[in-house]
Amino acid sequence: MKTYKGSCHCGKVKFEVQSELKPTIDCNCSMCKRKGTILTFVSPESFKLISGEDSLTHYHFNKHVIDHTFCKVCGVTSFASGKDPKGNFMNAVNVRCLEDVDLNSLEIVHVDGKSF
Ligand SMILES: [Zn+2]
Repeated sequence: MKTYKGSCHCGKVKFEVQSELKPTIDCNCSMCKRKGTILTFVSPESFKLISGEDSLTHYHFNKHVIDHTFCKVCGVTSFASGKDPKGNFMNAVNVRCLEDVDLNSLEIVHVDGKSF
């Protein structure tokens, strides 16, 4: 496991995540396709919000099972929270917001979220 630092664009929202970044996901649902996020899923134990709780705006749609968050200052989505199908809390981290990640080296799985 590697520890990555992540942030929004303006730097209000900062976090650390422990992950192998495998797999990373490119999803075609109505939200992801618009935002262009590349996601990786981590457990709450592997995710630490360092700052910016009060700068996060929350957005919910469809079944409201995912807490989509973005920075209210710069608008960048760096992570979302929700439950997996088994009911475990998970964080979906936008790999594009992590430092020191070579996006070209990632193994990206294309998920058909549009059909879920
Ligand atoms: Zn920001």
